[in-house]
Amino acid sequence: MPSTLHIQNSLSRQKEEFKPIQEGRVGMYVCGPTVYSDVHLGNIRTFMSFDIMYRYLLHLGYKVRYVRNITDVGHLLDDGEDRIMKATRLEQLEPMEVVQKYTNGFHDMMRVFNNKRPSIEPRATQHIVEQITMVQQIIDNGYGYEKNGSVYFDTLKFAKDTGVYGKLSGRILDDLISESRDNLKNQSEKNHPSDFAIWMKASPEHLQHWPSPWSEGFPGWHLECSAMSTKYLGKTFDIHGGGNDLKFPHHENEVAQNHGACGCDPANYWLHTNMLLMNGAKMSKSVGNVISPEELFSGESHLISKGYSPMVVRFFMLQAHYSSPLDLTDEGLQAGEKGYKRLMEAEKVLQKVAHPGNGAANDLDKEIHALMEGAIDDMNDDFNTPRALGKLFELSSKINGLKDGHLNWTDLTADTWKTLQTTFHAFIYDILGLKDEMATEGGGGELVDGLMELLIEIRQNSRTNKDWTTSDLIRDKMKELNVVLKDGKDGTGWSVG
Ligand code: AMP
Ligand code: ZN
Repeated sequence: MPSTLHIQNSLSRQKEEFKPIQEGRVGMYVCGPTVYSDVHLGNIRTFMSFDIMYRYLLHLGYKVRYVRNITDVGHLLDDGEDRIMKATRLEQLEPMEVVQKYTNGFHDMMRVFNNKRPSIEPRATQHIVEQITMVQQIIDNGYGYEKNGSVYFDTLKFAKDTGVYGKLSGRILDDLISESRDNLKNQSEKNHPSDFAIWMKASPEHLQHWPSPWSEGFPGWHLECSAMSTKYLGKTFDIHGGGNDLKFPHHENEVAQNHGACGCDPANYWLHTNMLLMNGAKMSKSVGNVISPEELFSGESHLISKGYSPMVVRFFMLQAHYSSPLDLTDEGLQAGEKGYKRLMEAEKVLQKVAHPGNGAANDLDKEIHALMEGAIDDMNDDFNTPRALGKLFELSSKINGLKDGHLNWTDLTADTWKTLQTTFHAFIYDILGLKDEMATEGGGGELVDGLMELLIEIRQNSRTNKDWTTSDLIRDKMKELNVVLKDGKDGTGWSVG
């Protein structure tokens, strides 16, 4: 029987069969970036993991509404300063200039890494009305209180009434009292240390503020996501995601707010992605192990020996399961580069073959079908990209075996051949979201292939004519460009690196 999609639900801590609320449709909300600095590779890993989930849900035929917000106000640093305000102060820009600058940079990076655009990308500052309404609902339901123009969520009352607080993160309220990570500046205004601000009165230097029943102020970060997800996906939707560093307090507080306002869980499945490390430590500015995407592409960093292309980085990231930590190392990237090229080469071979085989179904057919079904089973098993890639590699070996004459094309049935071509293609481009980096817009891939064939032919002719100057020139120039020529019994092939 074909497998069905199962996902690891942080809420139940179990792997569960995925059953959407509405048949054939999926509502998915992912916490987007806070746009006060350049997006880093850790953020990119998280958004890429959700891109894979989005792509796979689409591949399964779901109509997906994918909402990924932009946080452009209210996300405070540990010292209480709003992240956007800090960038505004340091860069001497308007708040919306900061927001636009880093939103543009974020979009550029998403495009470079071939992440699909979300269906809706709401900004917090464009949903102030919805947020004020939700704060009011929370107050009306008895779970919010006002102090000096700010409004706080009453965690103690909420926990006592509902027993829900701590459900997602597994934290116990007593522990929270001692280690509240919320805004220390306003601690004294709270009834309880684990209470958190859902509306904040703006200080005179805070440039982003709106009128509200409580003060001229701005919304709390946690509240923004609750209000925007409810607006676009309803009170309860299918999937809510983010990096696992958001589980507490951000997501725990979102759950509390949604219960506090609407009396229900916001999402049925909570998915959390794991962190990107650099040489074993969490990539962070204080450790000094940060490498920007640009440095990674150009190789201009002491942490790597050379540059790696965006698709090599994407491939490298897909070799780990989204829920495992991933260590970015030079060796790992080098291996990723080889793997990516091998896969793309197999795809090229496969798509080039014009004549389907006409054999009777045999063991090779069975093996190839089993590998294709296995790769789908792997994706159904909580989006297991590393295992699916393993199957694609086994298929690549078979494809290369067919190419170099180890296996016979005509042994395969036409049906197996066609299915292999479409499945392999769908995996590489639609599900994994890889691109052929040899290709440029407008069919450059074919152009490069055509030119390479021409050069190889000229080299062959010059060798036949004993024109060693020409043949050596072609060989040496290719070497300079990192192109390797391979002479085989079917003629000369080529690869990069
Ligand atoms: P932020 O812009 O800080 O709100 O983060 C945007 C997303 O990136 C969140 O889902 C974070 O959990 C995620 N994130 C932050 N740092 C890392 C990291 N080192 N590895 C993976 N994901 C991260
Ligand atoms: Zn969020």
